[in-house]
Amino acid sequence: MDVGKAVIGITTNQFTTENGIMAGAKRQFVSDAYVQAVSAAGGVPLLLPIITSQAAIEQQLAVVDGLLLSGGGDAQPQLFNEEPAWELGRVIPERDSHELALVRRALAVSKPILAICRGCQMLNIALGGTIHQHLSAAEAFIQHDQQSPGDYAGHTITIEMGSKLASILGTSVLTNSFHHQAVKAVAPGLAVSARAKDGIVEAIEHRTAAFAVGVQWHPELLLAKQPGMIELFTAFVNAAYQSRR
Ligand code: MN
Repeated sequence: MDVGKAVIGITTNQFTTENGIMAGAKRQFVSDAYVQAVSAAGGVPLLLPIITSQAAIEQQLAVVDGLLLSGGGDAQPQLFNEEPAWELGRVIPERDSHELALVRRALAVSKPILAICRGCQMLNIALGGTIHQHLSAAEAFIQHDQQSPGDYAGHTITIEMGSKLASILGTSVLTNSFHHQAVKAVAPGLAVSARAKDGIVEAIEHRTAAFAVGVQWHPELLLAKQPGMIELFTAFVNAAYQSRR
């Protein structure tokens, strides 16, 4: 029986229109680059809007074969028992709750996860880890934020030999970098799979799940300049396909 392609749920971002006739209107959206990357890797992208009902969130996950956590803004510090730092950006509590519920459910039912940028941090928080609220020169000698344009790969990362990520990308790659937060204490159950030269965690992966990988950079923006980056999406989509057998 042809069961079609793997369906990949992509979490959405949210913003509220500030000016004009639509002022106050909330919108949910994703960057088209995620949609294109999943499609190019052979998956069928499906957007998962932010909702609050736990039962409905479980149903969202039931219709997808894999979960892609997209990038976005800062996580609430209270999720890892900290008070807000001065440098903390805008938070979206309902997005945090939605994604944490999706991650926990995906792990419970063994569906693959690819977590990008903010998603990497949410994966860590979901399993009890903490994050840096704001990287500064005190923690990082590399500038990790605002290395524009999006397809500019500005710093190298070293990938752990023997990790799942190394089996996909090798042990050293150049990455783009648009994050002022980063994984701090790695959650039990996760392992660091890559670091920047300043020691900042650039990738994590689940120790036992078939595929639960978080990356701090934005591979979806590098596909044109670094064709090898598609392998990350292909490995994820293939794992999602396998997971429904
Ligand atoms: Mn970085």
